[in-house]
Amino acid sequence: MLLVSEPILGTSEKEALAATIDSGWITMGDRVRTFETEFARQHGFEDAVAVSSCTAALHLILHALGIGPGDEVLVPSLTFVATVNSILYVGATPVFVDIESAECPQLSLAGCEAVCTPRTRAVILMHYAGYTAGRDAWRSFADRKGLLLIEDAAHAAGAEQVGTFGVAAAFSFYGNKNMTTAEGGMIVASDARLLDAMRQMRGHGLTTATFQRYAAKSVGYDVTMLGFNYRMDELRAAVGLTQLGRLAAWNRKRAALTRRYMDELSAGCPRVGLPFRSWQSDGHPRSAHHIMPVVLPGDVDRLAVIERLKSAGIQTSVHYPAAHRLTYYRTRYPHVALPVSEDYADRELTLPLHPGMHDGDVDHVVSALASALRDAAGTGRSPHEFPEPAEVGV
Ligand SMILES: *Cc1c(COP(=O)(O)O)cnc(C)c1O
Repeated sequence: MLLVSEPILGTSEKEALAATIDSGWITMGDRVRTFETEFARQHGFEDAVAVSSCTAALHLILHALGIGPGDEVLVPSLTFVATVNSILYVGATPVFVDIESAECPQLSLAGCEAVCTPRTRAVILMHYAGYTAGRDAWRSFADRKGLLLIEDAAHAAGAEQVGTFGVAAAFSFYGNKNMTTAEGGMIVASDARLLDAMRQMRGHGLTTATFQRYAAKSVGYDVTMLGFNYRMDELRAAVGLTQLGRLAAWNRKRAALTRRYMDELSAGCPRVGLPFRSWQSDGHPRSAHHIMPVVLPGDVDRLAVIERLKSAGIQTSVHYPAAHRLTYYRTRYPHVALPVSEDYADRELTLPLHPGMHDGDVDHVVSALASALRDAAGTGRSPHEFPEPAEVGV
């Protein structure tokens, strides 16, 4: 089976794990610290805070910025649900905003502008599929409205400009991301005091971490804030350091595979929509090429296409079901309507993309998709090409 994503783990990760076990020091030691500074350096920052997940990273950022009850946070619905959950963790109110278009499935700036209120405190940008976009426009919007810009950079490790949009960025090292520690996350920011606060919050709010106490040979600690246990351990940091060393080469491979997909899909599947297509012709898109999303024609049954590809040995997935339509959020916020996100979520299909793939895999996927589309033509509803009044709202 050709998988949508697949981690690359091998001898160097095994050796890094063995060396950590042999060292006898498995939590909060110098590997975590080295991973933080190396990750920061590779993204153009001085420092970073390693945490247990991207979800923890987003929670810490919002908490450390003092966002809480009564505050509104603008967020895309076309994201993994964790982005939105983090807003509820601090007691703030998520305000769902639509995406710009199927060609650019990123948060709409005009949409954000339209729903801003005096209670709006922050915007969480999610660099969908790894593409970082519109930094200047977002910065001037945030400045004008007095908002904090936060990046959910789970898709964008290694991308140009990532982390430089606003106040802090959260990364994920979950198993399907561009680099992995199995579970894990990282926060980059340029404000050293904000980083210090988040580092303290990560470890129960203790004023000194275990390793610092050991190094300083002192015993006491104090708790000066509400903390959490969001620590990363030495084993994960050791794997992360190994993966980080190969991230740039992996992302170049992802970029080359994406270009091949774009060329072959536009020739072989002309009815399939290609998000970010126009960016490729501009030379170097600022992207970590995390996933390969396509948008199926409206008259095609997506499930039939998924089944056809599966029988050709190709796994696919959907990024994402719109968060505001998931039962929990739909029940809690029943009146949200985001037509562009909803249509995109209904028609999107994510094709396999990972650096272990070969050019021939791309060719195989494109020809299998072309024949699946031929077979499935006319099987789906088509709210756009043939607007049937009876279907609206179904
Ligand atoms: C993976 C992902 C997360 C969650 O990351 P974890 O490390 O699993 O907590 C959050 N947001 C987006 C966009 C993701 O893709």
